[in-house]
Amino acid sequence: MKTNFGMTEKKKSDKMMDLHNHTFWSDGENSVAEIMEHAKECGIGVIGICDHFLAGETKALNENDLDTYVAELNKFGNIYAPAVCLAKGLEVPIFAFNQMWDDTLIKKVNKLDYILIEDYNNVRDDMDVSYILNNIRKIQCRKGLAHTAPTENAVAFMNKNNLFWEMNIGEAYDFYRYVDEYEKEDVKDILKKLNCNGIKVSIGTDSHTLMDYPMGRLSQANKIVGQYLKRLDVIK
Ligand SMILES: [Zn+2]
Repeated sequence: MKTNFGMTEKKKSDKMMDLHNHTFWSDGENSVAEIMEHAKECGIGVIGICDHFLAGETKALNENDLDTYVAELNKFGNIYAPAVCLAKGLEVPIFAFNQMWDDTLIKKVNKLDYILIEDYNNVRDDMDVSYILNNIRKIQCRKGLAHTAPTENAVAFMNKNNLFWEMNIGEAYDFYRYVDEYEKEDVKDILKKLNCNGIKVSIGTDSHTLMDYPMGRLSQANKIVGQYLKRLDVIK
């Protein structure tokens, strides 16, 4: 690995992570058990299940499902530890925080290890996000922005609210370019900006089926993030 990247090279983290997987609980095509078994076979040490929650158009969990969901994730987490650590997550649209989140709901969500907040790029500059932020601040687990373009605004938002950034390597987005072209000046600038703002980074395949799981991309992304960026440690 070249050392002229302009960022400090670190010791590579040894556990591969994929913090973005969907199951039958929302719009995924596999069970939690299948995803865990696959992770074990592939040597993925940290796997995150983050099914959709309160997502209008997509098949998603709602509040009444949360306890059973968490119980099932705990069960499989125990079966596969320590070979595969299961991080319990949810993917929540940012505008879902624009409604009432009472203490019961907050308590349930706080049993998770992390949440991914999606649709930040749909927040316009003139929108008042104070209500959204009020709710987000009540959540104590790790919080990050899913598949979000790291614009100036997004970086400032993450920095201010202690959110991590997801390097989403799914086909639907072009963030994998950062892995492929991390030595190009414009990509270097983006990655440096994340580092300078102290923003931690997760990696996610956004996988909805194991049929076309991007193992090569995942492994490459883990290498780059582990070596050059502030990698998120989701398991306490
Ligand atoms: Zn997703």
